[in-house]
Amino acid sequence: MQNTATKSTEYMDMEAQYGAHNYHPLPIVIAKGQGVWVWDPDGNKYMDCLAAYSALNQGYNHPRIMKAARDQMETGVTLTSRAFYNPRLGEFLKKVAEISGHDRALPMNTGAEAVESAIKMARRWGYDVKGVADDKAEIIAFNNNFHGRTTTIVGFSSDKEYQKGFGPFTPGFTLVDYGDVEAFKAAINENTVAILIEPIQAEGGILIPPAGYMKEMAEICKAENILFMADEIQTGLGRTGKMFAMEHEGVQPDVYLLAKAISGGFMPVSVVTANKDLMDVFDPGSHGSTYGGNPLGAAVATEAINVLIDEKLCEAATELGDYFVGKLRAIDSPHVKEIRARGLLVGVEIKASSGVARPFCEKLKEFGILAKETHASVIRFAPPLVITKEEIDWALERIEKVLTTDAPV
Ligand SMILES: *Cc1c(COP(=O)(O)O)cnc(C)c1O
Repeated sequence: MQNTATKSTEYMDMEAQYGAHNYHPLPIVIAKGQGVWVWDPDGNKYMDCLAAYSALNQGYNHPRIMKAARDQMETGVTLTSRAFYNPRLGEFLKKVAEISGHDRALPMNTGAEAVESAIKMARRWGYDVKGVADDKAEIIAFNNNFHGRTTTIVGFSSDKEYQKGFGPFTPGFTLVDYGDVEAFKAAINENTVAILIEPIQAEGGILIPPAGYMKEMAEICKAENILFMADEIQTGLGRTGKMFAMEHEGVQPDVYLLAKAISGGFMPVSVVTANKDLMDVFDPGSHGSTYGGNPLGAAVATEAINVLIDEKLCEAATELGDYFVGKLRAIDSPHVKEIRARGLLVGVEIKASSGVARPFCEKLKEFGILAKETHASVIRFAPPLVITKEEIDWALERIEKVLTTDAPV
């Protein structure tokens, strides 16, 4: 082993020795990045088709976002806490209002924190506005959901792996089948305050609900005085070809949850958006976060959104997604059961007879492509939206090789 030790193995060994083992990463160390490309410390080059679970929609090392970060850092003010005002937060919140169509935004850090915040907001709205009896509020979520990893959130996961050993869980959540309007209707009662739903279940395996489903769900929510809360943490900000995936069905939710690409992969920034009547259930002291709304994050995220708009990355996701998926579908593979895609969020489901997705991802890595399995049988391709046609062709050549030779084990 001594002789084959590389910088990469050194870094991987150190993480494995000193870190918690709560991930099973592919054996690659990313030491440098530019656009869709990354390099390991030993000089090997790869195309990143995961893009940090769609946090890097704008690509690695985007010059404008990098400059915004540098400029803000040079002011010497990276964190003020919300005990004081800072010069960058207002413009960020205004930008979020412009894209979301909502009056207000609550800044937090991670996606899970945005979800937690939305749960608190929905519950308080239930009591203060809807008139639900104390401590009775119920939120409806969906089988195969992914909303993060806090104890409350994993408590309403349908994935036993996310829950095992972590109970007892927070009450007040009901799960129904995703894509099934009747199941949702049957689950509604006088205490239902909100639904929490992903436009596409990405972690669930790129599961796309039937056409018209979101629109119908939104109509029912409106009629029943239930908040429609859309978790666009992964699907939002251009990934599916629209700023928000809900736009595909013309739905304007009561609440958007955003994180990941809102800061272009630079640092944790998340927001909950809503109109005044809802957001104003929060009053001073009711909620907070030390780093939430920090000026460095606000400066970076403002520019990350500007880049999405100025570089027309939503349009790029549609056009390049269609191109990529068209060619992907044309590959005559004995291993592919189904391809599910919207924009540049692409899932390739592997047939049971060909094993699971991970060995395919390991094989892709040998060919210079980084992709990660989701839900055992699905390979997710979600490259930065700044990818070019030529780069897609480069990837397709290699993907074709992996999908048309014997199943790796
Ligand atoms: C990633 C993700 C989250 C959680 O975000 P974190 O920043 O990892 O806490 C929540 N919902 C969805 C849909 C996600 O993809």
